[in-house]
Amino acid sequence: MLKVTKTRILAAGVTGLMALTTIPKEKDVTRRVSDYFEQVRRDPLLLTTFFAAMPKGGDLHHHFSGSVYGETYWQILSDSNGWINTATAEIDTPGRAHPAPWKHFAELPRNGRFDSLKQAFLRMASVKDFNESLRPSDEHFFATFSKMSFVAPFGMVQGLRELKQRAVDEQVQYIETQVGLLDTAITLPENAGWEKSLVAASLKDSLAVFEILDKARAALLAHGAGSAVDNFFRRLEHLHQEANIDDTTFMLRYQLAASRLEAPLEVYRRLLLAFEAVNRRSLVVGVNLLKREDGEVSMRDYRLHMLMFAQLSRLYPEVPYSLHAGELAMGMVRPEQLRTHITDAVLTAGAKRIGHGVAIAYETACRTVLDSMARRKVPVEINLSSNEFILKVKNEQHPVLLYHTHQVPVVICTDDAGVLRTDLTRQFVLLATRYPSLHYADIKQMIINSIQYSFIYPAALKKQQLRQLEAALARFEAEVLRYRRPAVAK
Ligand SMILES: [Zn+2]
Repeated sequence: MLKVTKTRILAAGVTGLMALTTIPKEKDVTRRVSDYFEQVRRDPLLLTTFFAAMPKGGDLHHHFSGSVYGETYWQILSDSNGWINTATAEIDTPGRAHPAPWKHFAELPRNGRFDSLKQAFLRMASVKDFNESLRPSDEHFFATFSKMSFVAPFGMVQGLRELKQRAVDEQVQYIETQVGLLDTAITLPENAGWEKSLVAASLKDSLAVFEILDKARAALLAHGAGSAVDNFFRRLEHLHQEANIDDTTFMLRYQLAASRLEAPLEVYRRLLLAFEAVNRRSLVVGVNLLKREDGEVSMRDYRLHMLMFAQLSRLYPEVPYSLHAGELAMGMVRPEQLRTHITDAVLTAGAKRIGHGVAIAYETACRTVLDSMARRKVPVEINLSSNEFILKVKNEQHPVLLYHTHQVPVVICTDDAGVLRTDLTRQFVLLATRYPSLHYADIKQMIINSIQYSFIYPAALKKQQLRQLEAALARFEAEVLRYRRPAVAK
């Protein structure tokens, strides 16, 4: 007995000694990497090489169809002999017939005309060579989705492979991709009365809204919601496996997103299916709500949508969701319409993360919301390139430091790398260049946040991903010190 105790004491002593020697050493390594980072942060090319090599954890906010590059869509259509309108560069999948000037890809001669059509297509499908004098940037951005998103499920395997390859190449170990490809072959029994009552009640009577939603949910479940979710899972799992996505170094999980532009019961139908899907605890780990926030229906039904999340969250307490909220800027809507969206998403809907949150400073309850996000650890997903292009918000006008200084967890994301022709490395370069008050340790914490606040399930898997990230960051820091540029002698 005595012997065991002695051994334990000795073991504890050794562990304690190791802790004493290793912790300061780790801190010292991070401090020296931080010194190097400060040396290179004004050099955009060295900064790019720094962030290209740095493990970046996860990308928690991006949309599948907007993350695939135009070149990949072009390749998918070329491989499948899809259609192209040779006058407008619009495209279509092979199924339907089209009159001239549409042609099959196989009919296009491989010459200069082919290349100029491809360039015209890339300009239509992304921000490439965008000319603001011809069209507003937000209109151009959102229009790309209606032109491309129908190709995305058609070429999903190639698209998924592209997202994985890009992530692996830029040291990203996990991505949470928003998709909307639910099999929606179920219909709610016609009830125009519910629709009108929902809109009318949403601003003054939450209980009346919940009552109608409870009835709508019962009707949907009775009309095949369960088997629609089953069909969706079979399709998604098949695609996920065919694309060979998950391995020992990389993992992809999905969020199911509904469009906020639809009629109320259609939004609710899609949200219910999404909550049912996530509740089965598989590849789909979260729910989202998207499309332009300043749209006519989005603005009218915003609070109603938040009440839908509140009701579903009560019924499916384990299902996490992130909400696009405050993706607005002064001038896009009336000032009074900038006052409540993030507040409602956090306090009414109970969002677990907020996407964008750009309009936070205009919210009436700004400080209360920031306090709540900090206290309850509700992170904000920051998308710098996206906000610059769509909202024209950047530099000191962007609230990333407002969130950071209020201790709201920040994660850095891409939103739509394909449409915006960017990547996650570029987002970190922009962050470090524009906000010199953010130090290496702050940015490293944002990277750790991207796994910590992901919707990865179960908890043991998230822990494993966190350990993987910590090990990768330690290897990166050791490598930086090995190859850093020697300090210039004064
Ligand atoms: Zn988004």
